Amino acid sequence: MSGGWHEEIVIVGGGLAGASAACILADAGRSVLLLERDAQPRHKVCGEFLSIEAQTYLSRLGIDLDGLGASRISRLRLVRKRGATEVSLPFVARGLSRKVLDEALLVQARSRGARIVRNEPVRSISFDRTTARFALAASRPIQADTVFLASGKHDVRGVKRPTANTMGDLIGFKLHYRLAKSQQRALQGCVDVILFSGGYAGLQMIEKDIANLCLVVSRQRFDELGRRWDALIAHMADECPPLTERLQDAQPLFPRPSSIFQIPYGFLHAPDAREPQGLYRLGDQVGVIPSFTGEGMSIALHSGCLAAATYLSHGTASSIFHHRVRSDIGRSIRLASALNRTVRHEAGRHAVFHVSRIWPDAMRYVTSLTRVQEAAVARALAPP
Ligand SMILES: Cc1cc2nc3c(=O)[nH]c(=O)nc-3n(C[C@H](O)[C@H](O)[C@H](O)COP(=O)(O)OP(=O)(O)OC[C@H]3O[C@@H](n4cnc5c(N)ncnc54)[C@H](O)[C@@H]3O)c2cc1C
Repeated sequence: MSGGWHEEIVIVGGGLAGASAACILADAGRSVLLLERDAQPRHKVCGEFLSIEAQTYLSRLGIDLDGLGASRISRLRLVRKRGATEVSLPFVARGLSRKVLDEALLVQARSRGARIVRNEPVRSISFDRTTARFALAASRPIQADTVFLASGKHDVRGVKRPTANTMGDLIGFKLHYRLAKSQQRALQGCVDVILFSGGYAGLQMIEKDIANLCLVVSRQRFDELGRRWDALIAHMADECPPLTERLQDAQPLFPRPSSIFQIPYGFLHAPDAREPQGLYRLGDQVGVIPSFTGEGMSIALHSGCLAAATYLSHGTASSIFHHRVRSDIGRSIRLASALNRTVRHEAGRHAVFHVSRIWPDAMRYVTSLTRVQEAAVARALAPP
């Protein structure tokens, strides 16, 4: 890229939030420049569980999950120590790696006319009354009337999230495995959610014969285990023998797991009159839901589509969007955060497991309360 020019809309980040907004804005004939830090598609830390709402958005955006080989998941098995309890999900979920999914959505955005520039980290954003200025790592500065900030977990200087009151002490890991054939069959159609002291994990099949193990663990427990992945896996398997069985003869597909530190679970952007109009915060920049809900991607897609729709009808009046999105996702984030705090203690894990065992519908009920509600999805997808 060269020159210090002026754009109508700059989107920072090409994950699901940024790419979904790019698709809708480009479809409406707007001039869109999307800047993505990574030079290539990569594996992101994510359970890769797609809820029904995420699927609704993806299908509207032209993503063919069957064509991409996504797995189908209709049951949830909660595992704690030697015990397991299983319920059917209230919908058929899908499993697909983020490396495949995010790239497919960026391809959609490009085919609709968005300009996608990779290998272009935004270093900082500053505002004067009507213009945003971007300092870029690889090119000369640019300006824009409107910013869609979709940089996910990564904050950008000048527009950082205030995450002081969130649960920032958790570390996320992800590793793909090729499981033994018998274990692939046993896991087919099911997501295993494993509660262990220090955190929880999700294991499910994604595309082809690949399984994704994704987990969060407290920094304290990880430190106690010598900050070693193999010690963490041994700790989980020791506490939960069903996991030992799953990983018997499994072949890890990356040399080391992907990781992410200081996930600000519970963060919910509070609209602030001092924040510049023309700054739209999307995805993890507007709210971070604890990952066991499997709703982070649907929130990213919801916020991307809703922000684009709001921009098309109200221009730079981003506070309208921030009030709407807060009311759409606030309850889910608060409830999921309370549950997340509960399972951090042995007594809480025990209670959640036993309630689920004697009253399986409780799990289904909680799942429905932590989702983006149908009416909100319909509003975001309504024609402008
Ligand atoms: C452990 C864990 C498990 C999870 N499991 C699930 C699950 O099973 N199901 C689910 O629905 N959700 C899950 N989530 C949540 C989900 O992964 C996120 O909510 C979702 O990825 C947010 O999308 P996003 O587009 O906001 O951000 P991201 O997907 O993180 O995308 C942000 C993009 O911005 C780019 N970027 C960052 N900084 C810059 C910069 N300065 N300049 C330019 N580009 C930049 C990044 O490279 C990236 O491509 C999980 C999260 C965690 C931590």
